[in-house]
Amino acid sequence: MTSAEARQRIADLRVHVARHDELYYRQAKPEVTDFEYDRLKRELADLEAQFPQFKAADSPTTRVGDDRLEGFATYRHRQPLQSLDNTYSEADLRAFHQRLVKLFSREDLAYVVEPKIDGIAVSLTYEKGAFVRAVTRGSGFEGDDITANAKTIHTLPPKLKAARGARLPDVIEIRGEIYMTLAEFERINREREEAGEAPFANPRNLTAGTIKQLDTREVARRKLEIVLYGVGFCEPAVTETQGGVHGLVRAWGLPAVEKFWPTHGSDETWKAVQELDQLRHSFAYATDGAVVKLDSLAQQREAGSTSKAPRWAIAYKFAAERAETRLNAITVQVGRTGVLTPVAELEPVVLAGTTVSRATLHNRDEIARKDIRVGDYVFVEKAGEVIPAVVGVNTARRTPECVAYVFPGKCPVCNTRTVQYEGEVALRCPNPDCPAQVRRRVQHFSSKAGVDIEGLGEAMVDTLVEKGWVRSVTDIYRLRLRRDDLLTLGKSVEKSTDNLLAAIEASKRVELWRFINGLGITHVGVAAAKDLARKFGSLEALAEAKRDDLLAIEGIGETMADAIITYFNEPKNRTLVSRLFTLGVAPLAPARPAVGSALAGKTFVLTGTLPKLTREQATEMIEAAGGKVGGSVSRKTSYVLAGEEAGSKLEKAKSLGVPVIDESEFRRMLTG
Ligand code: NAD
Repeated sequence: MTSAEARQRIADLRVHVARHDELYYRQAKPEVTDFEYDRLKRELADLEAQFPQFKAADSPTTRVGDDRLEGFATYRHRQPLQSLDNTYSEADLRAFHQRLVKLFSREDLAYVVEPKIDGIAVSLTYEKGAFVRAVTRGSGFEGDDITANAKTIHTLPPKLKAARGARLPDVIEIRGEIYMTLAEFERINREREEAGEAPFANPRNLTAGTIKQLDTREVARRKLEIVLYGVGFCEPAVTETQGGVHGLVRAWGLPAVEKFWPTHGSDETWKAVQELDQLRHSFAYATDGAVVKLDSLAQQREAGSTSKAPRWAIAYKFAAERAETRLNAITVQVGRTGVLTPVAELEPVVLAGTTVSRATLHNRDEIARKDIRVGDYVFVEKAGEVIPAVVGVNTARRTPECVAYVFPGKCPVCNTRTVQYEGEVALRCPNPDCPAQVRRRVQHFSSKAGVDIEGLGEAMVDTLVEKGWVRSVTDIYRLRLRRDDLLTLGKSVEKSTDNLLAAIEASKRVELWRFINGLGITHVGVAAAKDLARKFGSLEALAEAKRDDLLAIEGIGETMADAIITYFNEPKNRTLVSRLFTLGVAPLAPARPAVGSALAGKTFVLTGTLPKLTREQATEMIEAAGGKVGGSVSRKTSYVLAGEEAGSKLEKAKSLGVPVIDESEFRRMLTG
């Protein structure tokens, strides 16, 4: 490879890896399997080593994937929470041992082999035995404060039990993973399916999404679990070995790993890794590997770490179970905004305990990149042990009949010619009247994040659209004229029909943000809908909004502003909204703070722990007084409300000259 080619490939790989990081860590919606991701990252690391002139300080190979989100207070770990170097090969595992042998000039190094839990990393702080804080890994240096959500985990004790003979540390950061059992994951998905909603892809993603919910009541509805296996900062020290950490975790009454293996040297370690592979399916949590750690904490300190991972530990990842099966067909689904998603229709095959017959192929480029052809024998794996994905083709079994797949140039539902907008990977059906889009739009409108009509889930919408009783969102509010038709939908449906009609009636008076979100304006999600509702107070005002008014809202950028303007410039959309009003839909404007409200027009950013108020309480108080809470500090921020141990937001406020206030000053502001 020439230097110019390497440079280009490195640049491409950085873009790919950064995109997958964003999808995985922030959105919890990965598009590729971990194996594929790890392969891309390995290729990047190898090229960077081979062509050091193209190394960059901000390359994804030098930092940990960042999970921080807007809306959470940031908290700085006392000791960084790092990632782990990982490998899929026994040789690399042995090489890891050899590096340490060289470093310590001794062969008989002691290790601990433990399960690598496939959850979400968390650091718990206990002070004098009392739980004070839970923080995500974030950038490795600072993460999101998820204390309120972590408190919903029933197995997380508010106080540590005093272990016999050992005093509790003054301050300790205990590291572990939050996860969800497969049973709970399945329960939630069953409920969603019954309500007609799309199921979640896998427990890890659902856990990631759950602990980052801003509404703690939502979190409490889903049962999260936790398991602890490590110590970060600890004052005074409580043990000198990793084996000791596991013992203390258990003695303190915290959920600990089921089993760990003390070993010496690489043969014993490899044997333990294989034993773990046999046992791990009986564990309560999903595992994706084994972690091998030097047992001695003194040796760990001496070995040190890179910017991203410790040198004293390595993760050996178990390759996901893989099956080979025939790709019988590729079907194409049409989404709410017309996006065409190809789906692999597979010859049913048993994979890791369940039968798999469908898997998403994401988009046209993905099919081309993997050169997937109908009739091919393909390899299927389960990402995160749950979602099936086509990871490659067995080209040795390809027959001449398997010709390259041509993505349809027309929408499979309404036959309109597809389009591809600049900068997008997706192909779209541009026809807004396409029945597939109508169905999805109606489903989105009536969903939980929309006007939330109980009983009008995806399956019900499918039926109503199929029957021709619902052709647009407005038809929902005409359904009461079709009570007799609805009664033909099954036996003894009288009660459910009346409940549905009552729920539809009730949905006319929902909060404005639900209505805005329900319209499905491109790029506008719940958070933006809430901002728009707060700023404009009515749909009429929003429809007349100027681009500059929209851009003045923190968190609304040019793409979203343009999408909103385009939406309301479209006469069809205006007609839709006015028809809904005629049918009696009257969304509730957000309670307007009285004129002259203490905090009207002010934006606050919260950081650190306040003495008396939780984050949620402070947010409620600010919003009730007409203010707004932002996620990050900018020049538009009016005040930073800082508590103890405030993180980088405080620094940023100082550097931008944004006033910083404490809780008592904040209370004074409220009282005028
Ligand atoms: P990682 O998950 O491979 O390993 C580090 C993490 O392991 C730690 O932060 C900790 O949270 C966790 N862990 C679990 N059990 C542990 C134990 N016993 N001891 C110590 N740590 C333990 O690394 P990462 O940086 O969180 O994520 C990188 C991995 O995530 C990649 O290798 C890839 O598999 C996956 N990923 C996938 C995609 C994708 O698009 N599919 C994108 C980004 C990352």
